[in-house]
Amino acid sequence: MTVEQWGVRVPVRRGEETRQALIGEGALDCTLKVLRDGTALVFPVLEERGGAGRFVFEEQPGRADLPRHELVGGIAILQENDPEGATRILASRPSLHTVLFPTSEVAGKYRTRTYAVLAGTDTTRTEVLEHGHRFAVDLAGAYFSARLSTERQRITAKIKKDELVLDMFAGVGPFAITLAPKSALVVAADLNPRAVILLIENMKKNRVVNVLPLLADARRLNAILPWTFDRIIMNLPLAGTEFLPAAFRLIRPGGTIHFYALVSKEGEHLGRISELGGIEVTERVVRSYSAGQWHAVYDIVAGRT
Ligand code: SAM
Repeated sequence: MTVEQWGVRVPVRRGEETRQALIGEGALDCTLKVLRDGTALVFPVLEERGGAGRFVFEEQPGRADLPRHELVGGIAILQENDPEGATRILASRPSLHTVLFPTSEVAGKYRTRTYAVLAGTDTTRTEVLEHGHRFAVDLAGAYFSARLSTERQRITAKIKKDELVLDMFAGVGPFAITLAPKSALVVAADLNPRAVILLIENMKKNRVVNVLPLLADARRLNAILPWTFDRIIMNLPLAGTEFLPAAFRLIRPGGTIHFYALVSKEGEHLGRISELGGIEVTERVVRSYSAGQWHAVYDIVAGRT
């Protein structure tokens, strides 16, 4: 059987690296076979993302009858409330301990959701391995998404030695901990106490000592912190431009802000960014969010304000 699905096309030499990255993000559609297309490979992915196109794939024998799911560490998250399918998924992979079904949307200021346990151990906690780092996560207690793991690598590659970095919405610390080895100091703030507790656990797990965890509202950071920063990560896409003025108060002239935002048209936030003092801006699609909306990242070089 063949089906049409989103696919990411890469040269054969980048095949293994891409496969690992997509598995790490929980984005690879394991029910379909990888496609050989001339000198390129096309990896089936669960949803639209930057650079993806539509391709026809063959179904993977034995996997096609599993319900659609996303993997986060040892947890599978189902798209349908299907207890029988959950039991089959649990049996299909020895690394899984729990199968969940979301019973709410991602909501509230902590950006969390509630889950029903369909199979396996009664927990929303697990550990995620991402590019050599290990993250303790609690899906019901604090936000975590593996889908930005490629972004974390992209930003790590941009960091120059001894940068002072601020992560304004740090969650359990995936950006802060990934960026720490190349930075002098990463200040990692979050409003959610559960996220900050997991962030501290993750610093210990990864033997990272140059992250400063802060339980704080991003609006108040410039009143608390005595520094300006070389680089700021802003990953609270639904907030739009609300926190950008706070970020511009905290960035040094010439420093870079990586601003993740939900957009429904190209260039949506460029006007506001330039008003606030962005002098060079690039905008890229990160992934689709819903019909007509997608997550974009704006890399902004700050001028003198
Ligand atoms: N950066 C993390 C990641 O990639 O997994 C978490 C991103 S999550 C989309 C946004 C985070 O911002 C949540 O952990 C939430 O608790 C936090 N948050 C929401 N409003 C905040 C505020 N006013 N100040 C600081 N953190 C806030």
